[in-house]
Amino acid sequence: MDKNEITCGICRDLCPSYRDGLLSDDVRESVERHILNCEACKAYLDELKIRSSQTDSDDREKENTFIKKAKTANYYMIGFFIGALIPIGLLAALVIYAIIISL
Ligand SMILES: [Zn+2]
Repeated sequence: MDKNEITCGICRDLCPSYRDGLLSDDVRESVERHILNCEACKAYLDELKIRSSQTDSDDREKENTFIKKAKTANYYMIGFFIGALIPIGLLAALVIYAIIISL
């Protein structure tokens, strides 16, 4: 066994870091060399990449839903304030009108 060669177990442990680009050059090269000769680990890494991109889009979707909900909540708040301000405004106008009349 070459001193640079890694086992399948080590390779799979390193796969998440490899995918995220966190490995140092020599370790990354060891993983790449192993994957060239090992279909099982290559498949494992491919699946890891697919899973991570799915997680990313799931996160984006959740974020979008959150933004939509926040926007909807904002519209409700605006509606609530307008609904509350109009009666208050009318009441104030009425009070001012009553004060002017009584003078
Ligand atoms: Zn392997």
